[in-house]
Amino acid sequence: MKNSKKSLDIHREIKIHKKKLSNCRLCKNMKGTPVICSNSSSDILLIGQAPGIKEKVINKPFAWTAGKNLFSWFYKIDVSEDNFRKNVYMASICRCYPGKNIKSSGDRVPSIEEINNCKQWLDFEINILKPKLIIPVGKLAIEKFISFQKLHEVVGKKFTKKVNGISLNIICLPHPSGISMWYKKNPGKALLEESLFKIHKTKVWQNLISKEK
Ligand code: SF4
Repeated sequence: MKNSKKSLDIHREIKIHKKKLSNCRLCKNMKGTPVICSNSSSDILLIGQAPGIKEKVINKPFAWTAGKNLFSWFYKIDVSEDNFRKNVYMASICRCYPGKNIKSSGDRVPSIEEINNCKQWLDFEINILKPKLIIPVGKLAIEKFISFQKLHEVVGKKFTKKVNGISLNIICLPHPSGISMWYKKNPGKALLEESLFKIHKTKVWQNLISKEK
């Protein structure tokens, strides 16, 4: 009874939170409105960098090429995209599309100011969801939790840390961008496999597998 009341409270809080978040327009240089995942409770929190232009249009996190790669990785460890989207809370360091990088073919990396503006939303989600596993995807998301120089130092490892006073596990993934070579050749390829192996072994991931139809 206590647990179901707690879960209802979390759902209610997250619903209010998402409403506030969807109205956020703090960053003047962002090109879109916040992209927000559909579910409201999870022991696993996946954190990306920022939505791309397709995610802005479709209004769903990891909805295009990078998402296809990411979900193909999860498929290898027995979780389908459908199951993942239904049961895992997906957040990002910045919730709005930053626009194109004028010096390259990719998207603009959010500024420090934008990251700081958006921090409040992620911190609230961590505090209310109290996840047991955080999966930061890509450099910007990993940096929020762990100091490092090169991806090789963090991908493939499991960290146990206190985040906002909550003890949890962190397993990092590289950014699944189609143009990245990091995870396509060794040592990145093997380190990605190691991260996936470690994710697969966690209890919360095994719980997720049990929800596959
Ligand atoms: S990036 Fe975050 S803080 Fe900035 S406008 Fe979007 S939701 Fe608000």
